[in-house]
Amino acid sequence: MEIEIATIGGYEEVGRQMTAVRTGDDIVIFDMGLNLSQVLIHDNVETETMHSLDLIDMGAIPDDRIMSDLEGDVQAIVPTHGHLDHIGALSKLAHRYDAPIVGSPFTIELVKQQIDSENKFNVNNDLLKMSAGEAMSIGESGNVELEFVHVTHSIIDAINPVIHTPEGAIVYGLDKRIDHSPVLEDPIDMKRFREIGREDNGVLCYIEDCTNAGRKGRTPSESHARSHLEDTIRSIEDYDGGIVATTFSSHVSRVSSLVEFAKDIDRQPVLLGRSMEKYSGAAERLGFVDLPDDVGMYGHRKSVDRTFKRIMKEGKENYLPIVTGHQGEPRAMLTRMGRGETPFELENGDKVIFSARVIPEPTNEGQRYQSERLLKMQGARIYDEIHVSGHLREEGHYQMLDALQPQHIIPAHQNLEGLSPYVDLAESQGYALGRDLHVTRNGNIVQLVG
Ligand SMILES: [Zn+2]
Repeated sequence: MEIEIATIGGYEEVGRQMTAVRTGDDIVIFDMGLNLSQVLIHDNVETETMHSLDLIDMGAIPDDRIMSDLEGDVQAIVPTHGHLDHIGALSKLAHRYDAPIVGSPFTIELVKQQIDSENKFNVNNDLLKMSAGEAMSIGESGNVELEFVHVTHSIIDAINPVIHTPEGAIVYGLDKRIDHSPVLEDPIDMKRFREIGREDNGVLCYIEDCTNAGRKGRTPSESHARSHLEDTIRSIEDYDGGIVATTFSSHVSRVSSLVEFAKDIDRQPVLLGRSMEKYSGAAERLGFVDLPDDVGMYGHRKSVDRTFKRIMKEGKENYLPIVTGHQGEPRAMLTRMGRGETPFELENGDKVIFSARVIPEPTNEGQRYQSERLLKMQGARIYDEIHVSGHLREEGHYQMLDALQPQHIIPAHQNLEGLSPYVDLAESQGYALGRDLHVTRNGNIVQLVG
């Protein structure tokens, strides 16, 4: 069986992930992501109304024209988790393929919302839910199977898809950290990875998330961020003014910890901002999280302002607003609060908790600096970096190689500079660049079995 892998997007950057695997006549696509930073550098770009080719030219979505070089039919499009750099281009590209979109329940819920907000294309692909631990057969041959393995990441219900072929398994490792005590869900299924590494013909190829490959040690668990957060909130328990917190709205585990600790110090948590409502609302509907009934979620400008007015009237000391804006995004809630554009009045000594890390990229760093300055000018005290990353570091990478023992490796999810520490690491384990360790670029095809 011929097997080749098209590395379409996310091999020169973090963002716009897309990879296609051809096994015989059948093709499976992993991820169709958006590189948001390529959009944000332009003023007033509304991606919802833009054409795919213009977004490809901007470097915002994957250039999938290479798909015509793969001889086979696309049988499934598989988003691995709900982050925009993995699902953000589905609304622009998926309709060109006659194949269902197959994802875990929470991911599919977010894909549905993504497709509904699209104004240019009619995306009618079937949406199929498949949970971690389940498998489905691919194509007509009867000997290719797609399996989902549960992994832990900074969004719930993330999976690593595996394609089982007669030549061995192809494991797509984006995105994850090895977490044995996550907050809302099961630990990562390392047992299954170890089994896959040892059954039948083992692992033919592993595509790895190299985001943090250059960092020593191991990525701490989400429970580590949770106890850091608890300690921080307890330390300001007696403060009788305003406390505001911000985090990734897609990070439902973190949001639920914030809600819990707000309650612990007798403050009413409220989620404010459109994306807060979107992710936490979806997680609640699907039963991933059970927030207390009295936790308000407000997305629209008017209902947000009304809530802020209520907070000012009843006393800031009774509330803990959880808002958008952890990267200093100009239109997000916290930035608007900093500019004094909301009815919430910050005063000297009020606390602002960033349960996030600035994404190390000049646009984010600049915006976040500006937002913090504005908050400080009103007297706010900043609690920063109460956070752990969702990506493996060095020791996690060693563990994955040990579990899977792949014949070939393709490093991904970074630019060339970011991939290089992983190349060193893999070479130290006996792999050789150009032989079984394939550093590739967007738009290439790696032939594994000819
Ligand atoms: Zn991710």
